[in-house]
Amino acid sequence: MKILHEVCSLPTAPFVEDRVIQYARRFAQDRKLDITEDSFGNVLLELRGSARKSPRWVFTAHMDHPGFIADKMRDDSTLEATFRGYVLAEYLKGQKIIFFAGDERIAGVVIGVDAEKETRRATKAIVKVTKRVPINSAGMFDQGESRLKGGKFYSRAIDDLAGLAGAFEMLDRLVRKPPTANIAVLLTRAEEEGFIGAIAASMHPALLRKTDRLIAIECSAMQPYAKQGNGCIIRIGDRTSVFNSSISYFVTEVAGTLAKKDGAFKFQRALMPGGTCEATVYDVYGFMAGSICVPLGNYHNMDRERKKIGPEYIDVNDWKNMVKLFVAIAKSGHEYKPGHVALKAKIEKRFKTLKKFLQ
Ligand SMILES: [Zn+2]
Repeated sequence: MKILHEVCSLPTAPFVEDRVIQYARRFAQDRKLDITEDSFGNVLLELRGSARKSPRWVFTAHMDHPGFIADKMRDDSTLEATFRGYVLAEYLKGQKIIFFAGDERIAGVVIGVDAEKETRRATKAIVKVTKRVPINSAGMFDQGESRLKGGKFYSRAIDDLAGLAGAFEMLDRLVRKPPTANIAVLLTRAEEEGFIGAIAASMHPALLRKTDRLIAIECSAMQPYAKQGNGCIIRIGDRTSVFNSSISYFVTEVAGTLAKKDGAFKFQRALMPGGTCEATVYDVYGFMAGSICVPLGNYHNMDRERKKIGPEYIDVNDWKNMVKLFVAIAKSGHEYKPGHVALKAKIEKRFKTLKKFLQ
């Protein structure tokens, strides 16, 4: 839980993920994990497994969250900012913002918003600020840092910092006794602007290999059939595509085995159409990718009932279950064979006894 609290309190916005990168570097250093960065600023942490030649499982999460980037001061108290990520413009007016400049926090209030015509998403904002904000500072909705209340975990940014925290929590649990398979965590930039970091990592794969088995971690808008409190979700697809069938099958088998051993473990399996996730990008570029997510409340800080900006929130047990599932996948990852080898064996067993009746 310490990692979840720390990560969900980090300042970030699309293209200005430097605080998250700093945290990742320190995290890797403290645990003596290998860390590599590509020329686009994506980061890979790696825990070597006991069988070095075993293929790698790579858990991926994005480091950004919809937010503001300071462009220029119009005068001493008026800032022009770009808004990055999908949030409806009508939610922004009058909202309190915090800009992060070095160790300093600068408060502001949105007094003007530009929207894209078709989507009505916010693109630019005018912010009244208490002092001059250095250009390129990240700005976030002033919705408080991480806190726990009634089994729900709230923060100004859960998507995808809670996903990233889940992957780190897994590494933290595995580091003393590494599993057989090699395990890595890939952290990407600017997902909220159209998976820019993940596309770079796929087109110019300095960090990824085609033999990697990928799990894209997300926080995805909860659905009537995928509710908070019912467990983490094996996400079989998103708004745009469906994910690797064989990896999804393996992950479901691992989750089923875990549920039999651990009465508290709960999981769901669903297509989550609230948005498009990075697993779609990895699939497009020929990588094998599945996905795991937690159901998210107030997706992208939009409290749709109150029509106001609010904190994002998740059920803390869904997150804990997600971590348990990551650890179980990491520990049994070396047993996975691509191309539905396990499922084929299972269905052919029955075929062998009954095929005689086909004569
Ligand atoms: Zn996300």
